[in-house]
Amino acid sequence: MNADPTCIFCKIVAGQIPAKKAYEDEELLAFHDIHPWAPVHVLVIPKTHIATLADVGPEHDALLGRMLGLAPKLMRELGVTNGFRTLINTGPDGKQEVYHLHMHVMGGPRPWSKG
Ligand code: AMP
Ligand code: ZN
Repeated sequence: MNADPTCIFCKIVAGQIPAKKAYEDEELLAFHDIHPWAPVHVLVIPKTHIATLADVGPEHDALLGRMLGLAPKLMRELGVTNGFRTLINTGPDGKQEVYHLHMHVMGGPRPWSKG
């Protein structure tokens, strides 16, 4: 497992900074976004440090599949029943702010503050 000591999401994985966790297993972590756009807004991340979606290769296919597959399960568990959005921002033009791969999963009744 790769870790970048300067990366805020690696610090969450390591327990060095707190997060409100929604799911955890050996390779994935999901936690609530600190600035939610929607009533439910979680981030799904691989525990290993991958900076962006542009950095994945075929060796990550299963991991990416698991991230996506976790979204409906999480939304069900968090009481979201009327659909949700999934979003991955990649690189500067993709408006990525945190350079540790993460998938936003947002749901709950509208209006939302963004998105
Ligand atoms: P982006 O890289 O543009 O996809 O956005 C990064 C997201 O991470 C933003 O929605 C932030 O609110 C969220 N975020 C940043 N730091 C934390 C943190 N310590 N805990 C939870 N969410 C965070
Ligand atoms: Zn990281």
